[in-house]
Amino acid sequence: MKIRNGNRLIWLDGRIVPLQEATINVLSPTSQFGANVFEGIRCYWNEEEQQLYAFRLEEHYKRLKNSMKMFRMEEKYSIEELKQGLIDVVRANEYKEDIQVRQTVFIDGFGTWSSKGPINMFIAPIAKSRNDLEKSKGMKCCISSWERISDRNLSPKVKVGANYINSRMAQMEALENGYDSAIFLNNQGKVSEGPGSCLFIVRDGKLITPPMTASILESITRDTILKLAKEQLKIEVIERDIDRTELYICDEVFLCGSAMEIAAVTNVDGIVVSNGEQGDITREIQKIYIETVTGNMKNYKKWLMPIYD
Ligand code: PMP
Repeated sequence: MKIRNGNRLIWLDGRIVPLQEATINVLSPTSQFGANVFEGIRCYWNEEEQQLYAFRLEEHYKRLKNSMKMFRMEEKYSIEELKQGLIDVVRANEYKEDIQVRQTVFIDGFGTWSSKGPINMFIAPIAKSRNDLEKSKGMKCCISSWERISDRNLSPKVKVGANYINSRMAQMEALENGYDSAIFLNNQGKVSEGPGSCLFIVRDGKLITPPMTASILESITRDTILKLAKEQLKIEVIERDIDRTELYICDEVFLCGSAMEIAAVTNVDGIVVSNGEQGDITREIQKIYIETVTGNMKNYKKWLMPIYD
């Protein structure tokens, strides 16, 4: 599978232009204050069908529109326009491989952190291959010394660029201290999520994840896993608060997200999770997730939108 670097085309303000020619104002609120809302959308290449499938576009656009509303941006793009822009730019790049698409609505022009507009958008596809599940040894995570942002300050439900400073603080601290990533606690002291992912644990064969009110993003992968586990794997799923120490004594821990897919966590705060290897349920979920996003699960083709005619 080839990874494309040069000559990438992006969609900006209704036009498809080479990445090098796409410019935004350095004094814009997006550039200075992270005043943008965005989605990271995966499209998976199905070799047999010679088709590229975008995964759960409707849900991504619903969340993007919700982010715009919570961020007090005026309505600008219809779901159809959001979708057509993505299709046009991916087709223009002729991608026939797994990609991620960054679709970002931002406050453009010369302005301050409270400017309302002008509102603009870019859509940028980036080649991204899927994680090699066999090679993955599992991640070593720490509980971050940084608290997860909450709905009372910077809501984690708004997928706004500025929120990722909280993620950056946690991730950089984790790397500095020799871990692969971090897990946040929320302002109630309960397990929240990772810097760019949601979290699941397995205890006694049951799949447990923090509730939507635990200072988490309303993750599309989390929702996908809850449905696949319940409907296909017949695993009991529970949405409830998780204590930090439960991470030390549970059978499996994994993080999930559109970019990360499913990634086992085998060590938390230096304490080995179970036997220190990827757990069976994590593996099963990884497998069915990849089958689903690549179009090999008939029941879930409703979640896929073909890019090419
Ligand atoms: N939490 C955060 C903070 C994230 O940035 C992401 C990635 N978008 C997720 C969770 C996972 O969300 P999704 O499954 O929709 O990609």
